[in-house]
Amino acid sequence: MTESAIAAPPLRLAPSAFARLGPRFFTALAPAPLPAPYWVGRSAALAREMGIDPDWLGSDDALQAFGGNALLPGSAPLASVYSGHQFGVWAGQLGDGRALLLGETPGGLEVQLKGSGLTPYSRMADGRAVLRSSIREFLVSEAMQALSIPTTRALCVVGSDLPVRRETVETAAVVTRVAPSFIRFGHFEHFSHSGQHAELKALADHVIERFYPACRAAADPYAALLGQVTERTARLLAQWQAVGFMHGVMNTDNMSILGLTIDYGPFQFMDGFDPGHVCNHSDSSGRYAFDQQPAVAHWNLCALGQALLPLIGGRERAIAAIEPFADLYGDALAARMAAKLGFARATPAVGALADALLALLARERTDYPIFWRRLARQMAGTGGEPVRDLFVDRAAWDAWLLQYQELIGHDPSGHSPDLMLKTNPAIVLRNHLAEQAIARAKLKDFGLLQDLLGALERPFDEHPAHPDWAGFPPDWASHIQISCSS
Ligand code: AMP
Ligand code: MG
Repeated sequence: MTESAIAAPPLRLAPSAFARLGPRFFTALAPAPLPAPYWVGRSAALAREMGIDPDWLGSDDALQAFGGNALLPGSAPLASVYSGHQFGVWAGQLGDGRALLLGETPGGLEVQLKGSGLTPYSRMADGRAVLRSSIREFLVSEAMQALSIPTTRALCVVGSDLPVRRETVETAAVVTRVAPSFIRFGHFEHFSHSGQHAELKALADHVIERFYPACRAAADPYAALLGQVTERTARLLAQWQAVGFMHGVMNTDNMSILGLTIDYGPFQFMDGFDPGHVCNHSDSSGRYAFDQQPAVAHWNLCALGQALLPLIGGRERAIAAIEPFADLYGDALAARMAAKLGFARATPAVGALADALLALLARERTDYPIFWRRLARQMAGTGGEPVRDLFVDRAAWDAWLLQYQELIGHDPSGHSPDLMLKTNPAIVLRNHLAEQAIARAKLKDFGLLQDLLGALERPFDEHPAHPDWAGFPPDWASHIQISCSS
């Protein structure tokens, strides 16, 4: 037998459990062909987790399947319908305008193509995604995962020279996304606001059955579901805020019912600390500014609660389910900030210290990731540049540091520099890093993209071969404008 005759087994899918919800939930359709597809990037780590044969993932069969030119065995592609509030306004029916759910893996993970052509929900758009935004989504999905921040995953990106018109003419790409479910708050809003309450109940039962089974035993399972989603969303937001992540388009159709980060568009990691920073160039009112994100998440949970009202025994129960958000978020954030400072426990004194620090960072616009990593390395004694050099107002820094040291001195066993090194990443996917990988990828050079992915998969390690990846953004980076167009 020749080597080529031993075919590596392909990824086999089964129709997703979502498909069993019935035709009111989706339209079945095949992806549009993608001319002359080529590989842009693949995540070997996710492939391993999914049990995908690495030889097959490198094959032309896989390239055709993830480009949308062939169907994986067992798949039954569909575009789902949802609705949502966009920028605070009811937007009516939306849906997977350029995404297709292919099916699910034996391990219960849904596999979705994004950018795979027109669907009945494409509205005025073209059903495609551009290479630039596809690379950003691919890299950040895996970066967030490595930071232990709940997220949809990305298995690979396939490119094509097919022209796609945005502000300028770009080229098309398809991202393969993976998650236990892509159900959004907007799915619930869709069936609720259109009066399809049997479908609303079927959807809620599906989500409870698969993802929140403990809710079944509750006195009011749907209020319990809302409570669980509130909890996960609060924790997610605490993680975003602590790491300095901005989503950019927190519409209810971009909110995962599993509390995952979903639909990466104009996202950004904080550079110089500016609580009011707006990363989405199209967000002129600053609705989704960094410091607004927790309040927006709460607002979105209220929209979800409103949608679930037909199933919940009374408005009071819905309000009671969402009400813990502020405390859950506050506690989760306090725990995160304490860990960033190396404290095992979040006490009021640690909280006051963290607040004073954030106020100082905001006043000085101190580079957020660099500050935290330098502090971690300084406390751990592993070298690096002095933290103090980051500040213009050195007296203010010295005063804060003194308080910090005093607090550590009260209970040295409650402080761990190692925890700081494992909590404050050396590398995050800043806009300029993504831009560099994109620029090279446009020239069909994917080496930087793959190297960057490798570093982002180990964000708490130092990457001495690439000091610039952990360094300050270059001057040109401040001119990068990321709009909603993707
Ligand atoms: P977003 O806020 O980018 O997640 O997208 C909002 C809505 O627009 C969703 O229903 C998307 O499926 C849809 N959409 C965005 N871009 C496109 C596109 N190029 N083609 C079709 N639908 C799109
Ligand atoms: Mg979206």
